[in-house]
Amino acid sequence: MDIAEKIFPDLKYGVEEIEARYPPRGLPDGAKVMRAAPSPTGFMHIGNMLPFLADERAAHASGGVFFLRVEDTDAKREVAGAIRIIAAALGRHGIIPDEGVMPDGSEKGAYGPYTQSARREIYHAYIKRMLGDGRAYADFATPEELEDIRKKQEAVGARPGYYGRWAKYRDLDEGEVLRRLEAGEPYVVRFKSFGNPDNKIAIKDVIRGNLAFPENDLDAVIMKADGLPTYHFAHVVDDHLMGTTHVLRGAEWLPSLPLHLQMFRLMGWKAPKYAHSSTIDKLDGGARRKLSKRKDPEANIEFYDKAGYPALAVVEYLMNIANSNFEDWRRANPSASYRDFKFELSKMPSSGALLDLAKLESVAKSAIGRMNSSEVYDAAREWALRHDSELLQMLDADGGDYARKIFAIERDGAKNPRKDIAKWSDVKEEIRYFFENPGAAADDLACKEFLDAFAGSSSNAEWFAKMKELAPACGYDGSAGKGISDFINKFRVAITGRDKSPDLFAVMSVMGRDRIGERIGLASGK
Ligand code: GLU
Repeated sequence: MDIAEKIFPDLKYGVEEIEARYPPRGLPDGAKVMRAAPSPTGFMHIGNMLPFLADERAAHASGGVFFLRVEDTDAKREVAGAIRIIAAALGRHGIIPDEGVMPDGSEKGAYGPYTQSARREIYHAYIKRMLGDGRAYADFATPEELEDIRKKQEAVGARPGYYGRWAKYRDLDEGEVLRRLEAGEPYVVRFKSFGNPDNKIAIKDVIRGNLAFPENDLDAVIMKADGLPTYHFAHVVDDHLMGTTHVLRGAEWLPSLPLHLQMFRLMGWKAPKYAHSSTIDKLDGGARRKLSKRKDPEANIEFYDKAGYPALAVVEYLMNIANSNFEDWRRANPSASYRDFKFELSKMPSSGALLDLAKLESVAKSAIGRMNSSEVYDAAREWALRHDSELLQMLDADGGDYARKIFAIERDGAKNPRKDIAKWSDVKEEIRYFFENPGAAADDLACKEFLDAFAGSSSNAEWFAKMKELAPACGYDGSAGKGISDFINKFRVAITGRDKSPDLFAVMSVMGRDRIGERIGLASGK
């Protein structure tokens, strides 16, 4: 019996059958097939959301396919429920895959399964073939042996790693391998690198341009002792079978790129194009560092939802980072969907972007400013449902009519719609005065004709003219501090509790005569 057969005695399928199950996609030239490939670690990092959004944009802008693949081959790091967290976070941000794991956790598409732990047999079939062809081998090195190799390398000033003459089990006699397998010794499978690090290879990164690397000579582990493949191997197999054309991933993978390209060559497959994106950083006491999952609450995409930022604002903010010309485009196309922007993968930044919450805030104000009142109402309510029962009550009062009218003030059809809301969590304080009498005015306020002037006006202009007429009789004669705007402001404060508000006539029209009467009545002690 040979080694391949000994390790994998009863696989259901061979490589040919598998290849036949994943035919070429037959998409038009230029259509990109891209994937988000998160590991289910219980967390959706904003730094991952950036490439996932870019994957989705680049794929769809090219008429291609975007899919979500779960890379769960590291059982130690896996957190229960993590896949749902990631898929749902993507869904909430409108990053909807065409294939793979859907926001509700189900899978769809003809190139699956899209969860690596369900693809074990597939990887095994390829590893079996590699073992049979002498392109991979079983490695029995114990942690002590590996440590010993490392020390020896250090002593003679050799590069660390499992390669060439240091790769102790690379050329182990077949009989000896079979004997050890028979005895149940733990092992991993490594691929036999054929690279020579004295040779430089030229690689074109879609974002970073031309790069030069030494050829890989490390015999990387492709299957771990638990029978699961490593990322290195699994993604090569999957991206081949699933027809990925472009891999966008974090810069931490750049050093493994020569290894990955070598694996594609070894397998006789066309490698996808690779793009390595930047991190999202923050300033920490003057020093710049990558946003840390452990230290920074704002690394978690949930932070933004809890804080009340609309998902759309987070997306628009990330678009600013992803392509710096998005900002100019947005200014020129204030009402277009961000999906109309011509996103370009190659224009992604190659160095880290700084997280800027003030910028997010202003992007959020504009994003909400672009919504009409019923969109604002629906989104605020959807947020309140999950995070704020008091706000929900306000929004639901009067079957929702009152709040809808409040949101319509200086919004629907307005030339410069209000940009007063950055977060749904601001809404409650922003609209509270519509619900509660602020009781804020001084006693000298009243002029009982005020209410009649309001009730008898059908437009702001008409009301304003009446107020002008009324002012002198109420003691506002135009002298310093007694002008028409002082007169109106007195009522503004009584009605809203603020010295600045949206157009008072519009506010009063929404509140209605009874509320106004109560407010100025109470304020004037009548
Ligand atoms: N699972 C890898 C990660 O989470 C994905 C890298 C890739 O996109 O290929 O880092």
